Amino acid sequence: MAVVLASEDPSALAYLRAKERLGKAVGIAVERVSLTSPATETLLRTVRDLAGDPDIPALLVEAPLPDGVDAQAIRDALPLEKDVDGAGTAALGRLLAGGGGYLPATAEAVVTLLRSYGVQMAGRRAVVVGRSLVVGRPLALLLLAEDATVTVCHSRTTDLAAITREADIVCVAVGRPGLLTGEMIRPGAAVVDIGTSSVGRKIVGDADWMSVSEVAGAASPVPGGVGPLTNVLLLEHVAEATERAAR
Ligand code: NAP
Repeated sequence: MAVVLASEDPSALAYLRAKERLGKAVGIAVERVSLTSPATETLLRTVRDLAGDPDIPALLVEAPLPDGVDAQAIRDALPLEKDVDGAGTAALGRLLAGGGGYLPATAEAVVTLLRSYGVQMAGRRAVVVGRSLVVGRPLALLLLAEDATVTVCHSRTTDLAAITREADIVCVAVGRPGLLTGEMIRPGAAVVDIGTSSVGRKIVGDADWMSVSEVAGAASPVPGGVGPLTNVLLLEHVAEATERAAR
């Protein structure tokens, strides 16, 4: 898998290092492609070159992108068959229209986690806090595909707590530590924390763990939970893309 690193954001480097470590552990080559210039043109040229390289079966552009980059142009350039994180326009379109591309790994990790722990999704009320193309929106679509009744909340939502309190499943992907507290969920609800923020030297999620874990029936912590599973699923996609490319 080629991973394009276009930004100097420390979290982009941290995400990439985690992929490199896991890749090394399981025998998948993760090739770092660092850009000298963060301009859209340079990034586009690199993505197009890698897209056309027959020796590279899998391709990812590390988030977050540098400020000023035309993210839509980059999404448009990601080829469906190599887009192992389902981040491109073609893969997102397939997800909306019923499948066929690789699923965005973070959203897939959330649904995999819920399924693995026996949390029923069909017929249940699920709230997704966050509506980004990377996490919130794909997750809402996957929960919908599991027959949950889905509400998506965002920065303009009024009275977030009134909505999360109605939910059987609360997934929070914002990047604001402590946003979700125990008073905002109903007893027994399942909470999946996707938020990842650095506070001092600690990585923390969006949920106030102490209060949420007291009220929730099941809760997924940060660090742990969704983050590591995301990378496992991503590398599963890489293995699949590699096999397909060899056929
Ligand atoms: P993002 O693009 O910044 O989106 C954040 C979302 O949160 C936006 O939709 C925003 O609403 C919403 N929001 C902001 N303040 C809010 C508030 N007070 N109440 C409700 N919603 C609010 O971030 P992202 O890329 O989706 O990532 C979200 C979090 O997940 C980050 O902490 C990131 O590090 C983490 N993450 C984890 C993984 C993983 O573990 N595998 C992968 C990717 C991201 P608007 O749309 O209205 O602005």
